[in-house]
Amino acid sequence: MEGLNKINGTLIWYYYICPREVWLISHAIEANQDNDFLVLGRHIHEIFYKKQKKEILIDNTIKIDILFNKKVVGEIKKSSKFVKSARMQVAFYLYYLKQKGINLEGELLFPEERKREKVVLTKEIETELQKAIQDINKIINLDKPPKPKKIQYCKTCAYKEMCWS
Ligand code: SF4
Repeated sequence: MEGLNKINGTLIWYYYICPREVWLISHAIEANQDNDFLVLGRHIHEIFYKKQKKEILIDNTIKIDILFNKKVVGEIKKSSKFVKSARMQVAFYLYYLKQKGINLEGELLFPEERKREKVVLTKEIETELQKAIQDINKIINLDKPPKPKKIQYCKTCAYKEMCWS
């Protein structure tokens, strides 16, 4: 698909949260790495990885947390609060691999909540992803980032000082 080469799982995740963040990340604007929530996310990954395999990087585009039985792509999240973003991120991995002739299923893991959720790449989700990929490319190509909009995520966002001080 056209425009797929600039997209990665992180951009898909943020697309469903905040378009401004998509622009900032894609233009390599450094976020505050000491942000408590980034630190907590890294910590959960480290603890979980002691029991699981390391992440798999494909084409510098998708970073798969776990591959179960070579059939299921697993993605670890610290909470299910932004589950739509998480679902679409995994769906993007499945979509990307499908373009390479690899058909897999996905699973979201929320170790802190002891929850799991299956992700299947349906026709509807594929269509939605194609639209998201087009939109993200439009956002990336803007000269300036979209204006900040106060949303629930701003409270924990690593860019909050840049947007709101
Ligand atoms: S602080 Fe809010 S508006 Fe700014 S990038 Fe983060 S989520 Fe978007």
